[in-house]
Amino acid sequence: MTKRNIALVAHDNKKQELMTWAKDNQALFANIGIYATGTTGRLVEQTLNRPVQRLLSGPLGGDQQIGAKIAEGAIDVLIFFWDPLEPQPHDPDIKALLRIAALYNIPVACNKASADYIINSPLLHNDYKPDLPDFSAYTSRQTPIDIV
Ligand code: PGA
Repeated sequence: MTKRNIALVAHDNKKQELMTWAKDNQALFANIGIYATGTTGRLVEQTLNRPVQRLLSGPLGGDQQIGAKIAEGAIDVLIFFWDPLEPQPHDPDIKALLRIAALYNIPVACNKASADYIINSPLLHNDYKPDLPDFSAYTSRQTPIDIV
């Protein structure tokens, strides 16, 4: 089976909830690689006592790094506990990350119930491959400079 990689991101008011969720599901993470934004990643390493691919802190570019890894096909699932009650300085980056996850057809959980569904899904633990979107019509499109 191909090894799965999960990205974990939590805003500050959601970090405790994500750590509790990760600890409760520690056994299900056994053969899964973990990427995380900087501060979330540090806490996950402490909570699960295992190494994590830590990127930059979210507001310093970490959300964009996760988005780039999704576009490269390196991340299979995004668990993103974003805070619906607090404005964030990097709001455009959050929107961009959610957009790129939708574009590349990866499963996304933005709260604990959705994360529970994903982590317990048999599809996560077998060879299921989500359809990859076909961008060929877009990438081969005519632009004004092709036409002149
Ligand atoms: P952090 O970033 O894990 O570095 O706190 C999370 C975010 O705000 O995107």
